[in-house]
Amino acid sequence: MIRPILIHPDPRLKKVADPVATVDDAVRKLADDMLETMYEAPGIGLAGPQIGVMKRIFVMDCSEKDAEPEPMVLINPEILSVSEEEAVYEEGCLSIPDIYAEVTRPAEVEMRWLDRDGAVREGRFDALYATCAQHELDHLNGRLFIDYLGSVKRTMITNKMKKLKKARATA
Ligand SMILES: [Zn+2]
Repeated sequence: MIRPILIHPDPRLKKVADPVATVDDAVRKLADDMLETMYEAPGIGLAGPQIGVMKRIFVMDCSEKDAEPEPMVLINPEILSVSEEEAVYEEGCLSIPDIYAEVTRPAEVEMRWLDRDGAVREGRFDALYATCAQHELDHLNGRLFIDYLGSVKRTMITNKMKKLKKARATA
């Protein structure tokens, strides 16, 4: 089921999400909905708060355009370590449509999470996966990629989004 994606500014996008207590069928259904919503958007990552579910879960798929899909579900993710080396990517966000800006983050990140079966997984992400995983984990902590930009730029983007929301509400 495709869920509506919240558009910034929204108080739910600024809140810290709660841990998932048990990985049960309801959580698996949520993960399926999130993947479906992400692919349909289309996007490469989607976090619970973006659909108003204040749980620590995100999905991502950073596979190449014509390659086999690599859907990933990360529940209660935590960062184990980050590289000193940094990387700059032009980021976008399904909650901030059509806005892109360069963000500097650690180039590699090691994470631990629960998969859709509730099993503990660990992995090291690099390149686009590292940026995406950190961007999505930020969502679980109420942080958006525009929070890395200067306040003038951030205010400009926020005003643009307010207008977009208004236009969509009256459309
Ligand atoms: Zn995002």
